Amino acid sequence: MNDHQDTLEFARAQDAADPRRSFRDEFHFPQKDGQPVIYFTGNSLGLQPKGAAAALKQELDDWAALGVEGHLKAKHPWYSYHEELTAFTARLVGAKESEVVVMNQLTSNLHFLLVSFYQPKGNRKKILTEQRPFPSDTYAFASQIAFHGGDPGTDLVEVQPRAGEYTLRTEDILARIHELGDELALVCFGGVNFYTGQAFDLAAITEAAHAIGACAGYDLAHAAGNLHLKLHEWNVDFAAWCTYKYLNSGPGSVGGVFVHEKHHGKGLPLFAGWWGHDKHERFRMERAFKPMNSAEAWQVSNAPVFSMAVHRVALEQFDRAGIANLRAKSEQLTGYLAFIIAEVAKATKTDLEVITPGDPAQRGCQLSIVAHGKGKDLFHAISANGVVADWREPNVIRVAPVPMYNSFEDAWRFGQVLKSALS
Ligand SMILES: *Cc1c(COP(=O)(O)O)cnc(C)c1O
Repeated sequence: MNDHQDTLEFARAQDAADPRRSFRDEFHFPQKDGQPVIYFTGNSLGLQPKGAAAALKQELDDWAALGVEGHLKAKHPWYSYHEELTAFTARLVGAKESEVVVMNQLTSNLHFLLVSFYQPKGNRKKILTEQRPFPSDTYAFASQIAFHGGDPGTDLVEVQPRAGEYTLRTEDILARIHELGDELALVCFGGVNFYTGQAFDLAAITEAAHAIGACAGYDLAHAAGNLHLKLHEWNVDFAAWCTYKYLNSGPGSVGGVFVHEKHHGKGLPLFAGWWGHDKHERFRMERAFKPMNSAEAWQVSNAPVFSMAVHRVALEQFDRAGIANLRAKSEQLTGYLAFIIAEVAKATKTDLEVITPGDPAQRGCQLSIVAHGKGKDLFHAISANGVVADWREPNVIRVAPVPMYNSFEDAWRFGQVLKSALS
């Protein structure tokens, strides 16, 4: 859209034309001075769906009324609670139902998956990731390398941007994979980098990794619920994500996992637990571990029902809205916000540099702003005026208008707050 306008009327007209605008009413918005805040932090903690409280209460009530019998007799039986999330999850990330499971939390899941997919052998022992991955991922990679007796200083490699650039060029990522060749055991990128907001070409990276004999896995913390993923089609080996960011499932909620079907039943090494055992024989309580022939083989523990109750509500909303529809809205909404930021920069003669790629295919909804010379002061000023954004060291303000509940009017109002903070 080149016909954007920095006016309230224009923003409201966009909202009126948005078929998914009513989802906004299904969320609790924090208030400031009696007004809903401009909530642009769904990339850190998504808002609470209004249906969450009733879903949680259902489980509390069933527990009170049924005790242990809730495992089989609750409205949503706890024994198989995770199975109620499977179809929603598969549609959300572009997977077959056998390829996904909801379990544990993100970094824990990365470790469990690395046990299976990081198998350093001989010369092939390096892990390639993006520059400046989320710290937890670096800790996981480095500790796994050390666990196998390797040296994270040499075996953990980051693709660096070119001089003077913030983000990575796909051609440089692919070239680096090719160059490392048979030294590379695993390529493991974030789907979207938490700092720059850059979305990576997961299909191309996966293909390049496979071409030189490495595995390809992804941390989709900033991609699940943000991008239109096609994990099966892209031939991704494994992926993990959290559900409290774009997936609105509450602080510290349960995580999601994808394992491509080509790896099921192949005897990959894994850290086993009883919930990964063939469910038809689970309660025979036998000694020998017989893994499920699906991603559920990686489960270790029984379902954390309270987290999953909220996650079920949130996933059902995504299913109703449709991730392809949300993504289409997201490209428009983030494009509009980028326009608004550029208008404010012009009007106030401020250097507001958006370091997130301008190409919609290379970003999700987040924009990362470097306000040269003004960074943290500007962040505090907008925060004092009803914007909930976040600050990431050393110098980025992150703003994420999420298509599920943010509006074009939010983007326009954000511009007004930004302008007055800079004037
Ligand atoms: C948010 C985030 C995490 C957080 O990990 P938890 O185990 O959920 O605490 C890890 N990695 C990335 C890339 C993230 O964005």
